[in-house]
Amino acid sequence: MHARPRATLSLLGESSQGMKNRDLIPAWGRVLKGQKPFLSVEITKECPLHCPGCYAYGSDHLGGATTLRDLSDSKGDDLVAGVLGLVRRYRPLHVSIVGGEPLVRYRELDALLPKLETMGVEVMVVTSAVRPIPEAWAKLANLYIAVSIDGLPAEHDRRRAPATYERILKHVAGHKINIHCTITRQLLQRPDYLREFVTFWSAREETRRIWFSLYTPQEGEVSEERLTPQDRATVLEELRRLGREFPLIEAPERLLKGFQDPPTRPQECMFAQITACVSSDLTTSITPCQFGGRPVCAECGCIASAGLASFAKYKLAGLVQISEIFSLSKRFGDRVAAGTA
Ligand code: SF4
Ligand code: SF4
Repeated sequence: MHARPRATLSLLGESSQGMKNRDLIPAWGRVLKGQKPFLSVEITKECPLHCPGCYAYGSDHLGGATTLRDLSDSKGDDLVAGVLGLVRRYRPLHVSIVGGEPLVRYRELDALLPKLETMGVEVMVVTSAVRPIPEAWAKLANLYIAVSIDGLPAEHDRRRAPATYERILKHVAGHKINIHCTITRQLLQRPDYLREFVTFWSAREETRRIWFSLYTPQEGEVSEERLTPQDRATVLEELRRLGREFPLIEAPERLLKGFQDPPTRPQECMFAQITACVSSDLTTSITPCQFGGRPVCAECGCIASAGLASFAKYKLAGLVQISEIFSLSKRFGDRVAAGTA
């Protein structure tokens, strides 16, 4: 999965940014016990793509002491047992399976996904769809598949070969998928670009939902992908318009507000606080969030973080912000976990 385009992916499953209060109650219960209700696992370090702007293979992704390429990764039964071990340890409600490219390990996933279904864990596989998605996965009720698409064919195919549109369309046939597009500066060169993109994917029977994230840069990054403040404002306005017109787009007002006003640091990011991210040796933590390295929170474009950030600003009974209750709960949960509560 995709580091850059992936990353931002919703670890929140079907409800995604439309996350409902009832979805948060069990998650909150886990927080009170000092657990993290969401788990993201880079199940392999291998990926046949070479996307520009991919941060997974960047020197800072794992904090600078090592890189994803230098880590070990497992295969076969070891990988299946290793991921199940993580799930037993963290007891998450939701697991995001990312990479590298998770489909490189499709045989292991064939064994793992039904086991996770039996355990009652919701799973999202985030993929480039560079190879066929196994047919049997369409029957798994706990599974959501997010396919990273970087714009229309001209741009996407250049950036993400060999996972070209032609292959993706072949490989997702028979599945319901969430389209996930990370908006970079390159996609803003034409005013109607996003509209064309949404028109194309809205018409496909495989499309369940269309998600947009905004490109999240790392500290000090100078790149063609990075959005300016004006770009961000323009994009949010366009998503607001498109959201009214195309029902498959996930663009409720509170999500757009979350993009507009992201957390200023990881400690304020509810999403980062409730998600454990583990790399391909199934041991190394990715911090401060799934992006790793030193992401610029003030320019965060993560759809999951934005969804939770706006939720956190709600006031219960018009008095107390949910983020304040969350922060108290987290402190209490940390003390429970440390045995000092
Ligand atoms: S598909 Fe591979 S190269 Fe592209 S962003 Fe994801 S991990 Fe990086
Ligand atoms: S706000 Fe910061 S910590 Fe949270 S997801 Fe975005 S970049 Fe990561």
